[in-house]
Amino acid sequence: MAENNYKIVIIGGGAAGITVAASLLRHNAGKQFDITVIDPASEHYYQPAFTLVGGGCFNFEKTKRSMKSLIPKGAKWLQEAATNINPEDNTVSLSNNTDIEYDYLVVCPGLALDWSATEGLAETIGKNGVCSNYSPDYVQYTWECLQKIKSGDTLFFCQPPLPFKCPGAPQKIAYLSADYLKQKKLLESCDLHFATSGPKMFGLDYFAISLAKVADRYGIEKNFHHHLIKVDGDSKTATFELMGGDNQGEIVEFTFDMLHATPVQRTPAFLHNTDLINEAGYVEVHQNSLQQLKYPNIFGLGDVTTTPNSKSAAAVRKQSPTVVQNIKNMIDGKAVEESYNGYGSCPLTTSRSTVMMAEFMYGGVITPTMPYIAKPRVESKLMWRAKKFGLPILYWDYMLKGYEKFFEPKLNYKD
Ligand SMILES: Cc1cc2nc3c(=O)[nH]c(=O)nc-3n(C[C@H](O)[C@H](O)[C@H](O)COP(=O)(O)OP(=O)(O)OC[C@H]3O[C@@H](n4cnc5c(N)ncnc54)[C@H](O)[C@@H]3O)c2cc1C
Repeated sequence: MAENNYKIVIIGGGAAGITVAASLLRHNAGKQFDITVIDPASEHYYQPAFTLVGGGCFNFEKTKRSMKSLIPKGAKWLQEAATNINPEDNTVSLSNNTDIEYDYLVVCPGLALDWSATEGLAETIGKNGVCSNYSPDYVQYTWECLQKIKSGDTLFFCQPPLPFKCPGAPQKIAYLSADYLKQKKLLESCDLHFATSGPKMFGLDYFAISLAKVADRYGIEKNFHHHLIKVDGDSKTATFELMGGDNQGEIVEFTFDMLHATPVQRTPAFLHNTDLINEAGYVEVHQNSLQQLKYPNIFGLGDVTTTPNSKSAAAVRKQSPTVVQNIKNMIDGKAVEESYNGYGSCPLTTSRSTVMMAEFMYGGVITPTMPYIAKPRVESKLMWRAKKFGLPILYWDYMLKGYEKFFEPKLNYKD
């Protein structure tokens, strides 16, 4: 290890990679850190606004910035893909067939969308009324489909088994769509379904009960235990396998005019050659210190890790200070801190002007940041404004710039 000049390599320049790089630089008073971000992408997206784009409430162009403009001054960007991690040599292999050395490695390449895991989906996504907010390539098609809905049409909003990013996103678009159809006086004549492979609306009953009432208010049929296994775009038919419930294993088919798909999500393939992962392919880290379980000079954060929090940019915001502090602690010969408490957030858009701001940490403990402004399960107009206007500013101008001080969530909240 070079004395007083520590090579820190970050795999992924998404929400997590840019935040960690910027935050490390804010702690770089002694110019100790030589930081390289590896990412092949030219663009960086603010994915939390994709829900609003698909619902016709946000300009797609505003979700996108060039990677070059976001790499913090003082960090280097290698526009390559990581192809392997060699922890015994402290190197990362790159798509240009070179290796880069590190003293500390931060692994945060997010999740890849696996359209072909669902039969027929790869062939029909982006046409035949089959859309998805999960990809910048198809998110604008969601809004296109919605505007073409006519009286008597059937809409499906599908949710696969966890894990996938932003567990609320598959139903958020259902509510934005229902409210749009209500405004167009089409809601009563259309048939809306929320088809989830799970047994309830949300992992935490505290929110699940309130969300079931929201769905009922719009007349959205709740198809629990319905796991989408096939989409035939030409005949506009969706096939589901019943997972759990009384009719476990049964196959059911529905026709649709619009189907919003949430693709199966997996960790990037290059990780599967490494011994950093669990059986499902996720990078194994301590859930509070975010330190890799086998290699102490490797940390992981964001969507790619085994931590049992809600996979969200909000979680990244709280994970990054832990990773940065722990790299500093290791350099200073101190013990790592176990300071990440599992915080995550899911602003549930329950209409085109309200949000139920779900915030929680490990163990399902409800941790609202501003309960005096809006109680967590209340549908709040103010929280809609926070989602649409405030959170994008917080992301681009605060989090991605490496600022770490935020309003703290209330840990002992009761209502
Ligand atoms: C529809 C939708 C709605 C969402 N809503 C919300 C919300 O309301 N609130 C919220 O907090 N979160 C939300 N999220 C989730 C949030 O966007 C993610 O949790 C967050 O972006 C995760 O950050 P990350 O850095 O782990 O991954 P990402 O931000 O996805 O970044 C991963 C980066 O790694 C790069 N990469 C991939 N492979 C390699 C490789 N081999 N080598 C190098 N680099 C690589 C990619 O190019 C990418 O730039 C939503 C996501 C979606 C899709």
